[in-house]
Amino acid sequence: MPTPLLNLCPCGSLRPYPDCCQPYHQQRLPAPTPEALMRSRYSAFVLALRDYLQAS
Ligand SMILES: [Zn+2]
Repeated sequence: MPTPLLNLCPCGSLRPYPDCCQPYHQQRLPAPTPEALMRSRYSAFVLALRDYLQAS
């Protein structure tokens, strides 16, 4: 059984994490909008990605 809930981005977008904030966290893409940046910072906080929070 797939468990899609586990893959949802924690920022609340209801999109899969790899299609949402993960590229920003891995710094492969800059967040394109202030809202995306806010979401990526929130999900980084939820995921305890301290490096991302300090870098942005
Ligand atoms: Zn997200």
